[in-house]
Amino acid sequence: MSKLRLVERAASDDLRARVHFCTETGQIWLHEHRMLLVHAEAQASLRKELIDTLGMDRAQGLLTRMGYASGVRDAELARTRAQNASDLEAFMTGPQLHTLEGIVRVTPVKLELDRVAGKFYGEFLWENSWEGQWHRHFYGIHSAPVCWTQIGYACGYTSAFMGRTILYKEVECVGAGQANCRIVGKPAEEWDDAAEQMRFFAPEPIADRILDLQTQVAQLRSRIDDKEKLPADMVGVSPGFRAAYELLKQAAASQITVLLLGETGVGKEMFARCLHESGARRDEPFIAVNCAAIPPELVEAELFGVEKGAYTGALVSRQGRFERANGGSLFLDEIGDLPLAAQAKLLRVLQDGEIERLGDQKTRRVKVRLIAATNSDLQQLVREGRFRSDLYYRLNAYQIRIPPLRERKEDVSVLAKRFLEKHSALYGKKLRGFTDKAKRALLAYAWPGNIRELENMIERGVILAPSGTRIEVNHLFSSHPGEPARELGLDPHGGLEDNRWEAGRSLCEAIFNGVMTLDQLEVMLLETAIDKARGNLSSAARMLGLTRPQFAYRLKHMHDVPKT
Ligand SMILES: [Zn+2]
Repeated sequence: MSKLRLVERAASDDLRARVHFCTETGQIWLHEHRMLLVHAEAQASLRKELIDTLGMDRAQGLLTRMGYASGVRDAELARTRAQNASDLEAFMTGPQLHTLEGIVRVTPVKLELDRVAGKFYGEFLWENSWEGQWHRHFYGIHSAPVCWTQIGYACGYTSAFMGRTILYKEVECVGAGQANCRIVGKPAEEWDDAAEQMRFFAPEPIADRILDLQTQVAQLRSRIDDKEKLPADMVGVSPGFRAAYELLKQAAASQITVLLLGETGVGKEMFARCLHESGARRDEPFIAVNCAAIPPELVEAELFGVEKGAYTGALVSRQGRFERANGGSLFLDEIGDLPLAAQAKLLRVLQDGEIERLGDQKTRRVKVRLIAATNSDLQQLVREGRFRSDLYYRLNAYQIRIPPLRERKEDVSVLAKRFLEKHSALYGKKLRGFTDKAKRALLAYAWPGNIRELENMIERGVILAPSGTRIEVNHLFSSHPGEPARELGLDPHGGLEDNRWEAGRSLCEAIFNGVMTLDQLEVMLLETAIDKARGNLSSAARMLGLTRPQFAYRLKHMHDVPKT
């Protein structure tokens, strides 16, 4: 029991440190999950209304499932602590969170668990049960236990933690007239009435029916929309993206040359491909060329082809990209980097549909839809004499500007989700999405590298996040993006304090005011470290950044210091 107590206290201290009140942004964080501070009475009214409209039985089911869902979430947090703690310590996260969240004061009475063997037995005392007290307030003493959300929480938490179904029952309940509640939990098969208990975990058939119908409607609708379906990464709801996409759709039906403008990484090739796929030439070739990636002296040969003997080394005749794209589309990225000689030839194709291979007198006819793209200012290049003005006007006839990701904030979540699915599949990982804090960081970031940067970052997150968890901020960003908002933590009495400074400041005050001496402070530090290291002096020393001999030296002298 005393071991349980110790474990309990350590867990509680550590958890308090994970609660942050961010008054500037109006958010409360528990680790990386967003929490709410709500009025118990308002919550109780909602519970009452559920009971009054749905009936006791249905409401019990709904509330049990709601509790179950938050239990499962808290188990995720417990799992993040499991790496550096014993099973017992990690498990105590749940009861401590239940207490910290203000729902019920949980005290373990008996707890035996073995995750590997799948063994579990738990008995807990519940004091100040929020749910029991309010139920009694509205409905008087009930014939059966009433802490449904809390029981759901215990089942969800423990089942997720143990990786098998664990069921709890209230053997005493304040709502049923006892002074406190008391719960017992064990694996489902050890209960005689497991089926009866578990019926509350099954969603209502009526809800299932509605969901089924919704799915059917969505499937039918998607079949109708199939012709307009976007390629995998062409997603977005932001006005900027929709406007660009509308222009693209209108151009798809014609053969007009299109110029795509946008920063590096906005997905110009994806837009070009989409234009090709949406047009009548979708079954013909789509050839992409990055003009900046080809040495200037080779560009003409690459684009227009070479006849055998055109220059030393041209041993065989070779088709250029234009010929290979014949009938389909040719995408020229970074067109501003095209040398002037190649620009002249390009203009000729656009005007007459004719090309000549290098070293060949014969003209060849090609039917190619040209899609050009650039992230440089072509007008400026024209002024500097590096880009032909006649070619510029030809290309500029139909331009589409693809907005950078920072102007498409609404699309970040959709894209992030898409890339998460893609890379989880590629790496064969099952992840549960992003933590609330990670989502917030993705939205706050300015994305200088645009969609490509987002995709790379999500890929990094998929690689770093352990299977079965959510991607956290530090899985995405190697350093924290920008200055984080000031967050307030909880002091041991549950008061708000600035994590970084307040605690230190009150210690300084204590020393200046003679409440405590420097030596006593050192004693406190040493004792706390030994406590946290469970008596292991080497690891206690490490916690304080000391060597073991340094630690032992200080320890030896501490017995002379009078305690406060
Ligand atoms: Zn109860």
